[in-house]
Amino acid sequence: MQRRDFLLSSGAAALAATPLFALAADGPGFAPAPALSPIRARPDRIIDISVCTRPFRALGPRIEAERRHGKTIVHHYGHGGAGWSLSWGSARLALELIAATRERRIAIIGCGAIGLTTARVAQRAGLRVRIYCKERPPEVRSSAATGSWSPDSRICTDEHATPAFLQRWEAMTRHSFKVYQSLLGLPGQPIEWYDGYALSDVPFDQPTPGADEDHEPDYPDLEALVHDLRPKSQALTPAEHPFRVPHVRRYTQMLFNLPAYFRLLLDDFLREGGEIEQREFTSPRQLAGLQERTIVNATGYGARALFGDESIVPVRGQTARLVPQQEINYGLIYRGHNLFVAPRRDGILVQAQGAHDFGNDDTRPDRAASESAVERLAALFSA
Ligand SMILES: Cc1cc2nc3c(=O)[nH]c(=O)nc-3n(C[C@H](O)[C@H](O)[C@H](O)COP(=O)(O)OP(=O)(O)OC[C@H]3O[C@@H](n4cnc5c(N)ncnc54)[C@H](O)[C@@H]3O)c2cc1C
Repeated sequence: MQRRDFLLSSGAAALAATPLFALAADGPGFAPAPALSPIRARPDRIIDISVCTRPFRALGPRIEAERRHGKTIVHHYGHGGAGWSLSWGSARLALELIAATRERRIAIIGCGAIGLTTARVAQRAGLRVRIYCKERPPEVRSSAATGSWSPDSRICTDEHATPAFLQRWEAMTRHSFKVYQSLLGLPGQPIEWYDGYALSDVPFDQPTPGADEDHEPDYPDLEALVHDLRPKSQALTPAEHPFRVPHVRRYTQMLFNLPAYFRLLLDDFLREGGEIEQREFTSPRQLAGLQERTIVNATGYGARALFGDESIVPVRGQTARLVPQQEINYGLIYRGHNLFVAPRRDGILVQAQGAHDFGNDDTRPDRAASESAVERLAALFSA
């Protein structure tokens, strides 16, 4: 069968069998190619473009308490490109600081990934929680994330990856991972796993042309600390995949379907008596007027303006979503072609990095950049 025919002929029935094939492929002597439906990648199928800034701190997230204006402020922000992934483990660290105040009723400023998860962790510990926030989902920045398990993404710089940081990061990562496994198989699939294909024109142990031109600092390679958490990627032979690319590996990845996951967090929070008050703070002094004496600052990038924390660097990111295709259950990474695709339920997510994202707080969508990424994706299916 021609590769093009192979790509286009696969249907839902074949896809339903893919997990079985994937399991069987690990055994000796049996490695059939999974049938993959093509992604209908066309610029006119873009249904949304989102832009947001990752709240990056070279030192890593700030999780510490301070006394101010007669309150205990537990700072909990600065999770870079890893906020969703680390949220449960990070919230557990914040809870230790909250618990030390012995207050039974707390306020949380912020209703993004970090604020809402901290709220759930506090509720599970028996605390009453009121969230104050300028925006709530889906308007928060967290809604514009990719939604991949990426606990090591822009979480600190190489020079700040001290042994103490590594230990803390590993504990956060492992705890989050554990919690996420308890959220699989729920209605709406807030969390799921998928197989993806990493494509490369050069062998994977060689850099791609232009790999050092991203104008970003050096980040530590943390994956090795938690390599046991997900299946190892596997090199595929040409018979095992439909792509006309010389080097292909199959990887397995955890995905957060953000609208369903946010809905789950919000529903659980409200069902357990949580309250949300929409309110913007323009100065930390306004926190003195809150009735709660322990206040969690989970304002993300907003902490830069509210608390004057200039250690937060914006790292711009833009994603586009294509009309959802239920039959697409695989992701793609095309090395050296600036293309990342995730099979989100609310639309096939296509991400491309900009040349100057680091330090860039421009949240205006660049439609041409997303269209160009979609065209690069389309080229994979038309070859
Ligand atoms: C393009 C992109 C892709 C990403 N992909 C991933 C990924 O795949 N996996 C992953 O784990 N992470 C990813 N991230 C990172 C992740 O999205 C962030 O780390 C996370 O969203 C930070 O959450 P947060 O709750 O701290 O901030 P936010 O979502 O920004 O929430 C802040 C909250 O505080 C409120 N607030 C702020 N200032 C004030 C104020 N002055 N007064 C009142 N309320 C205020 C806001 O209204 C909001 O409710 C990505 C980020 C980007 C930009």
